[in-house]
Amino acid sequence: MAHIVVLGAGLGGVIMAYEMKAAMRAEDRLTVVNLGSTYTFVPSNPWVAVGWREREDISVDLEGVFAKRGITLRPEGAQRIHPSENRIELKDGSSIDYDYLIIATGPDLAFDEVPGLGPESYTQSVCTIDHAEKAREAYEALVKAPGPVVIGAVQGASCYGPAYEFAFILDTALRRAKVRDRVPMTFVTPEPYVGHLGLDGVGDTKGLLESAMRERHIKWITNARVARVDDGRMSVEEVNEDGSLKTAHELPFAFSMMLPAFRGVPAVAGIEGLTNPRGFVQIDRYQRNAAYPNIFSIGVCVAIPPVGKTPLAVGVPKTGFMIESMVTATAKNVRALLDGTEPRAVATWNAVCLADFGDQGIAFVAQPQIPPRNVNWASQGKWVHAAKIGFEKYFLRKVRVGQSDTFYENLVLDVLGIKKLKEIHMDEAAGK
Ligand SMILES: Cc1cc2nc3c(=O)[nH]c(=O)nc-3n(C[C@H](O)[C@H](O)[C@H](O)COP(=O)(O)OP(=O)(O)OC[C@H]3O[C@@H](n4cnc5c(N)ncnc54)[C@H](O)[C@@H]3O)c2cc1C
Repeated sequence: MAHIVVLGAGLGGVIMAYEMKAAMRAEDRLTVVNLGSTYTFVPSNPWVAVGWREREDISVDLEGVFAKRGITLRPEGAQRIHPSENRIELKDGSSIDYDYLIIATGPDLAFDEVPGLGPESYTQSVCTIDHAEKAREAYEALVKAPGPVVIGAVQGASCYGPAYEFAFILDTALRRAKVRDRVPMTFVTPEPYVGHLGLDGVGDTKGLLESAMRERHIKWITNARVARVDDGRMSVEEVNEDGSLKTAHELPFAFSMMLPAFRGVPAVAGIEGLTNPRGFVQIDRYQRNAAYPNIFSIGVCVAIPPVGKTPLAVGVPKTGFMIESMVTATAKNVRALLDGTEPRAVATWNAVCLADFGDQGIAFVAQPQIPPRNVNWASQGKWVHAAKIGFEKYFLRKVRVGQSDTFYENLVLDVLGIKKLKEIHMDEAAGK
């Protein structure tokens, strides 16, 4: 009998638990350690921030569903993992041991890296449901007293889709509230061009997003480093190719939502051989850590090198489809170890993303992630908004009932007509 522990019950960790449960042997035990017992669907946070969703709409209590599926939930959260002892120290001082550990702890939000950034200071965030609810209060104040808005992401961020998404959703919400004419909007990003997305663009994301921003009167500053934020004012340094200062901008704002850079959570950061200097978990092509081969990792917390050189640090996003592929590969690889064989399943890490604008949107597919690609496709239309709602409903249902099949493979890829896009592939022999 083996004890398998999944650390983190977010978008990746919950489906990891379901797929691992389906893949493990009847005699094995599965425990999920999380901060709390509620799952919330992060991709819907931008809708919460403009009042289109309530917390309850996108939350699932995991206790009942996990109990029904025979999965133990430990909501205390991890204080620190001790990989050389195969032990997790929990926040209440107790410990649990594991035979196999799958780390799915998502991002630690590095607001402290820019003075004045974040919901404890002067800018809003949509990274967590708590932040999105706070952003909604600020949004309602903006509707009452319209003024300039700054949206975007700071240097080192690795999540750009939601920044664009939020700019367009806010534009739609403000138009519906009939105050858009009194809200000048600026998009600020470290990307070298609009639509880079940490992926050096996908299809014509540059053209599509620039055109959508022009149509919606959203100005932009690229190659932008946020030096500091003060109450109602953002100091932004636009840089040249070589990183030297091109123009300094002082941007006044009545409302601002800026995505921070991500790093690994404190419970796993700074462990020699396990994590890189930013605290992300180092893994091989089988999602497995080399120093601690009974540890796997999936989701935003894994280390991925940037796609090419850019004047400012621009991280690679880890989106739902990539995460689902990491989950499926990991379940197969842990099962291989349980069976006494070697891991062979490789996640393809293709990027598939639906960026909602509130009334339409842009979808893109990058296969593989790093150009040149076999599939490099982006498209715009009202159907993207409908597909995003479909994604939300399908995913939340899957979490509530404890299903383990994959959304994109079954729905979106059919719509996109690229069903041959494989979620994972198997190496012929281990280590190939
Ligand atoms: C605003 C936003 C919108 C996004 N929209 C999309 C989208 O539309 N489509 C898409 O494909 N991707 C989207 N993404 C990217 C990505 O899919 C999400 O970030 C996704 O939630 C990442 O899943 P994850 O499991 O890696 O991390 P998370 O979902 O963040 O889960 C991490 C979990 O680990 C837990 N945890 C953290 N520390 C500990 C600890 N010490 N002990 C125990 N548990 C811990 C947390 O409580 C949490 O439950 C979006 C990201 C953001 C921020």
